[in-house]
Amino acid sequence: MATTEELINELTKRGATMAQVALLKDPTAKTPDEAIELLQTGNSRFFSGQQSRVLSSVNSRRSQIMAQTPFAVVLGCADSRVPIELVFDQGPGDIFSIRVAGNVAEPATVGSIQYAIKHLKVKLVVVLGHEGCGAVAASLLTPEERSGEPLHVRFLLDAIAPALKDIAPIQDRKAKMREAVILNVKQQRENLEQDEVIAEAIANGQIKVVGAFYEIGSGAVDFLEG
Ligand SMILES: [Zn+2]
Repeated sequence: MATTEELINELTKRGATMAQVALLKDPTAKTPDEAIELLQTGNSRFFSGQQSRVLSSVNSRRSQIMAQTPFAVVLGCADSRVPIELVFDQGPGDIFSIRVAGNVAEPATVGSIQYAIKHLKVKLVVVLGHEGCGAVAASLLTPEERSGEPLHVRFLLDAIAPALKDIAPIQDRKAKMREAVILNVKQQRENLEQDEVIAEAIANGQIKVVGAFYEIGSGAVDFLEG
């Protein structure tokens, strides 16, 4: 079977209009589970060094002029070591990426997710935490220790801190950080699920909201259960 890329090339040779080419770009996943599978297989390509889709051709970019049809939203951290499209080996047009320190659900990120659900019909929302997250580490400090940070940094840390208030007293620093990041992912996911638009899309089966953890060293993403 011809790939979308080959179809686009063929159609362009025959002088198709941009609108005709745009129609070729179907959403790549039709259900939340298909969307999870696409991200998992993409991540496998990434961590095993088999990346395939990072660069797209001129024609494939042209096919995206008229519309975008991303299949998933990923709410990830702004951390430079966690580039979302690279980690999932996806190209332009595939992921509606939202990046903010600590991957927090706050009005701007929730608004972006509402837009992607309502207007772009995405099938999946992923909250992606990561190994060694500086925002989460800073949120483990006491309010007094955090008080020297600039106003908007404190806003972010205060959005994370409630997730960590009951963290178990784990001695091993790396294990404690992993636990803290996962607690924050779960909290932000729960915060998203409280939103009316997101809750409705979950209830009608359009989307799932899932948490995930990215390990910088191995490049692997673990999707979290429950
Ligand atoms: Zn981070």
